[in-house]
Amino acid sequence: MNTITRRTLLKQAIMASGTLLLPRAVTATTKQQHMKEPTNFHAIVIGGSYAGMSAAMALGRSVRNVLIIDAGKPCNRQTPHSHNFLTQDGSTPAAIGAVARAQVLAYPTVQWVQGTAASAVPTAAGYAVTTQEGHTYTCRKLILATGIADTMPAIPGFADCWGISAIHCPYCHGYEYRGQPTGIWASGERAMHLATLVANLTPHITLFTNGPENLSADKLAALQRSNIAVETASITEIQHNKGYMQAVTLANGKRITIQALYAALPFTQHSTIPHALGCTLTEYGHIQTDAFQKTSMPGVYACGDCASPMRAVAAAVATGNLAGAMANKELVDEDFGT
Ligand SMILES: Cc1cc2nc3c(=O)[nH]c(=O)nc-3n(C[C@H](O)[C@H](O)[C@H](O)COP(=O)(O)OP(=O)(O)OC[C@H]3O[C@@H](n4cnc5c(N)ncnc54)[C@H](O)[C@@H]3O)c2cc1C
Repeated sequence: MNTITRRTLLKQAIMASGTLLLPRAVTATTKQQHMKEPTNFHAIVIGGSYAGMSAAMALGRSVRNVLIIDAGKPCNRQTPHSHNFLTQDGSTPAAIGAVARAQVLAYPTVQWVQGTAASAVPTAAGYAVTTQEGHTYTCRKLILATGIADTMPAIPGFADCWGISAIHCPYCHGYEYRGQPTGIWASGERAMHLATLVANLTPHITLFTNGPENLSADKLAALQRSNIAVETASITEIQHNKGYMQAVTLANGKRITIQALYAALPFTQHSTIPHALGCTLTEYGHIQTDAFQKTSMPGVYACGDCASPMRAVAAAVATGNLAGAMANKELVDEDFGT
């Protein structure tokens, strides 16, 4: 079966399902129709980046009417190249998003609204989502794929380097800086975790603990054995050229040449909706889900960075796919009364 034939079949299935299969509460909408508000969907996905689009694809391919609401601010947008995601290694984040969007929106059951979801409230049938632009949409299942917002430190130069040479993850960007003079900006267990991973990639490491190391004598000795220098003075400035790091200056005046700096930044949920809905968060601040991406709120699923410390495009796509499939399964079970 070629792609065109499959698309044609899909469209026929949607037309049939609009009159025969869909629950009466759901308004069938296609891209050709003008959206009249409020519009009812099987599922609304808030956040249309990798996790959200993956969820929408699973739902769209299950002939579910899905609305994606997206504000267009993925967390990796400043990184020049995304790595470690099969078939897209080295692509720009925007290019990966564009291919995904074209493929997801090829399903006529999937709608896209550019905007910001301001609130989501429970209704008798599911949830009502209102955007900042003042539009309200309703659904039976809600998928949160809103990501997280990194809190930039007040170090001159840091924000300019974020995603370019100030990096969050050795798997995403460590290979590109292998063998280079590299910093790790962390203390305690986090510092140890990163140091062990990065030591595999470069022998030139300085650990910047920004105050006390918070490490046992054994761990400090282990760092010393691996020739990892430790600096406790705060970083006061980062020198860089268009985001590519050259050196850091410390509060004691020392200047240390590095080309990359690993940093685990504090973060907040990108959207206030998970909190407002009453979704339970983990101790680290992610939305708590079960093994099927279900949150503590009925009919609400969460996927991607907002719900997981495994911060990678592949992980976001995987959890999004699962959330979409599980939301569909819940719809199926409700409709069958099982
Ligand atoms: C600087 C940086 C570089 C990275 N590099 C890599 C890499 O090389 N390889 C890799 O695998 N991973 C990388 N990652 C991790 C990867 O980018 C994330 O894991 C991935 O983007 C998570 O996808 P997501 O869909 O969960 O969230 P995001 O991609 O952050 O997208 C969330 C989306 O939700 C939208 N949104 C939020 N709130 C609302 C709202 N209320 N209404 C509407 N829309 C909303 C946002 O605007 C955004 O479009 C990087 C991360 C960072 C920060």
